Amino acid sequence: MSTPTHCPYCAMQCGMNLVAGGGGLLTVAPRPDFPTNKGGLCQKGWTSTELLSHPDRLTTPLMRLGGKGGTLRPVSWDEALDRVAYEITAVQTQHGRDAVGVFGGGGLTNEKAYLLGKFARVALRTPHIDYNGRFCMASEAAAGIKAFGVDRGLPFPLEDIAATEAILLIGGNPAETMPPIMQYFDRQRQTGGALIVADPRKTATAQAATLHLQLTPGTDAALANGLLHIAASDGLLDHDFITARTNGYEAVRRIVASYWPDRVERITGVPTAQLTKAAHLLGEAATGMVLTARGAGQQSKGVDNTLAFINLALALGKAGRPRCGYGCITGQGNGQGGREHGQKADQLPGYRKIADPQHRAHVAAVWGVNPDDLPGPGRSAYELLDSLGTDGGARALLVFASNLVVSAPRAGHVEQRLDALDFLAVADIFLSETAQRADVVLPITQWAEEEGTMTNLEGRVLRRRRAQAPPPGVWSDTQILTALAGRLGAGRLFPSSEPRVIFDELRLASAGGAADYAGITYERIESEDGVFWPCPSEDRPGTPRLFLDRFATEDGRATFHPVHHRSAAEEPDDEYPLYLTTGRVMNHYQSGAQTRRVKALRDAVPEAYVEIHPALARRFGIADGDPVTLTTRRGSAQVLARFTPTIRQDTLFVPFHWAGVARANLLTNPALDPTSRMPEFKVCAVRVEKG
Ligand code: SF4
Repeated sequence: MSTPTHCPYCAMQCGMNLVAGGGGLLTVAPRPDFPTNKGGLCQKGWTSTELLSHPDRLTTPLMRLGGKGGTLRPVSWDEALDRVAYEITAVQTQHGRDAVGVFGGGGLTNEKAYLLGKFARVALRTPHIDYNGRFCMASEAAAGIKAFGVDRGLPFPLEDIAATEAILLIGGNPAETMPPIMQYFDRQRQTGGALIVADPRKTATAQAATLHLQLTPGTDAALANGLLHIAASDGLLDHDFITARTNGYEAVRRIVASYWPDRVERITGVPTAQLTKAAHLLGEAATGMVLTARGAGQQSKGVDNTLAFINLALALGKAGRPRCGYGCITGQGNGQGGREHGQKADQLPGYRKIADPQHRAHVAAVWGVNPDDLPGPGRSAYELLDSLGTDGGARALLVFASNLVVSAPRAGHVEQRLDALDFLAVADIFLSETAQRADVVLPITQWAEEEGTMTNLEGRVLRRRRAQAPPPGVWSDTQILTALAGRLGAGRLFPSSEPRVIFDELRLASAGGAADYAGITYERIESEDGVFWPCPSEDRPGTPRLFLDRFATEDGRATFHPVHHRSAAEEPDDEYPLYLTTGRVMNHYQSGAQTRRVKALRDAVPEAYVEIHPALARRFGIADGDPVTLTTRRGSAQVLARFTPTIRQDTLFVPFHWAGVARANLLTNPALDPTSRMPEFKVCAVRVEKG
């Protein structure tokens, strides 16, 4: 028997078949007819079923007995849930409703993300819910809303990438992080297209590019302004498009006038000849795309960086037309859907705003509560974590699908804040580094054991299908939330834990919102290979391509935003003389809680390392493979040196998938973007020492 579903990991959400084999084990088979990955999978996808029967799998709730220093012991579900409800009630009685926080994840299905947001606002009545997607692409989302009126990662289907003439890709390495997507980039180049990659590292993606711009970390906005300066000087702008479809170009023109090429070369390190070539490749192409990823977005100025590249796309007329557009490559499995349905501190389902009275009234009516009873906006992810255990901060925290001890910035501090809580509950499939610190651990289902929907990087809503029953003793997140709501006296507002019933409620809650799912049904998703939102009614098609007639702003025009380059929150100095940047590798995913447990993935990349240029390493007496200590103002991490001649000589790169002393996030800077509240994962100052 074969069940069509999707890979549990990244936002590509590759289609796959799960085939029941001998001994009840599921194996992965290709699904060549699925229109996005067309049968392609990366090693993570091929090995994904290994975790279903992994010996580390949690199959019973755990409760810490004997106080803070006590041990986690197996207990019944009733005992575990009673304890969670008791602790929530005790904390809220003593410190107020806002003293309980919820932390969700970009890997949750739409149904779970929706129910978690509702649970926080309706059952807990706390404003403090946010999720690890805040650490993923909050900057691109905020910039997209400012410029276009709506945030959908790609406003076009993947197949358009293969058909555009020129692509500028900033801060993304899909050849490693999302290999099946490369078939579209490969086709684009094979048919004569140009691919320009801007990245401080000559990554696998950059090596395949027509042109690589090896910019200094944190200089993205200067690069964008410089390219726009050249395009304006060399007559490459699309003035008809600017006049007909946009507002605000004049202010941008005045700003980019001062980004002359030799100044931009000094800031970015990219030679003027390359700047000119890039501007002409993109500007002279009849069609083109500007794509950004975490490199530009995960900065304390991530929104401005993204807006600067959107300005470039708009000025060249490379948006709102067929085979053109600005797009953002989403990272997490349901990074897109996860931020549409209310687990973000300032949002309600359908991408509605929690501070907007009309939006509150619509959602409150669907939920059957008084709009005045809904809390307002809460703290963003890092600010929530930073507040834990403090006066006025959260005293109890519920964590779903997130391994904060490894993935949050300034992770050593986050660990201390978690330990300062009165109560921590974690729902997870393994005893992750975060779950190890919890007072109660709740074992949950995995992707192949549950139904639901995910929204991929194109805004295509997909079906996740159950291929086998979960192990006895394991519950789904929706069962947990429904059971807790009952214990907290809100049971009548959570009538079902069935994903299909929750999805139908989500459709109502999202109706009329920016991310309108009202017309999407499980049956349609199946028969149409996914449905693109917005889809306002069942008799209307989905929307694969946004903005062809109008942008989603009030007057239908896109908006330019003048932005200047500004330095990173922390630049190298005598004490910390190098740049540190962080990211992913092909064989691991996010905090590594899953992929570090898969033998083939662990064998492929068993340990944390730092990419260092051999010439730089020699200056510090470091040989290839040496243990080294990296130190920033937040802490130190110990990893192995890996010589990489393709990285800049002033920059170190550390993947963030490992725990303990090898955690990249012991080093990262939680300086936040003023709009998106995104921490500065991608740039900080570091020193390296042998040993
Ligand atoms: Fe899974 Fe992403 Fe790899 Fe596809 S690209 S197989 S979705 S991890």
